[in-house]
Amino acid sequence: MRPLDLGGLGIINLEVMAWALQARWQWHKKTRVDRPWTDLELPSHPNSLALFAIAVKTELGNGNTTLFWSDNWLHGTSVENLAPLVFASVPPRIRKRQTMADALTNNGWVAAIRGGLSWVGIREFLKLWDCVQGIVLNEQEDRHIWKLDAKGCYSSKSAYRSYFLGSVTFEPWKRLWKSWAPNKCKVFLWLAIRNRCWTADRLAKRGLPHPDRCPLCDQEGETVQHLLVSCGGKTGVV
Ligand SMILES: [Zn+2]
Repeated sequence: MRPLDLGGLGIINLEVMAWALQARWQWHKKTRVDRPWTDLELPSHPNSLALFAIAVKTELGNGNTTLFWSDNWLHGTSVENLAPLVFASVPPRIRKRQTMADALTNNGWVAAIRGGLSWVGIREFLKLWDCVQGIVLNEQEDRHIWKLDAKGCYSSKSAYRSYFLGSVTFEPWKRLWKSWAPNKCKVFLWLAIRNRCWTADRLAKRGLPHPDRCPLCDQEGETVQHLLVSCGGKTGVV
């Protein structure tokens, strides 16, 4: 169930699409704060939350819609990534709610840290301190940018496609699926290109009964490549 250009049949994978659509809730929660459900805890799959965490970066304005601890406002990354030990010392309730505006007022972010920090944690804290000192908020609204789409706005298509990033591409997909051939021929070719036809080599791999040589020419092992390209049939047996 992959897109056509990645070697699939173009049928939508409903599980992956559900993750992509759940990211839309997170996006609206971030960008449309006037909605009544903004403060509700939206149930989202971890894969959806992970996508949202890497797909959105923030340009700071007044700091009212940017979360200090988890949003990507710090050189395109988040405090969670930059100072994980400091992040772990903050109660989850505060991490989920403390905005940039709150955090910078009287250094509220420092007050949110509970318990002692190890020396590595203290180093992270000092680095973070330096970064935060340089931050100046202004009167404009925060700007959240969806990095996976050229327009910078969420789209279910870009979210869905991002789950297939890094997949091997299927180069001949256009020539194959856009051709005028009947569907059964296209599906056969698709199987042949992907080496999914039940020829002898494939049967052998799975320990199933198979002929030792190609039944048509009796010269070589039976593979898709051989059958379609090099098999001479009976004329080959001389
Ligand atoms: Zn043959």
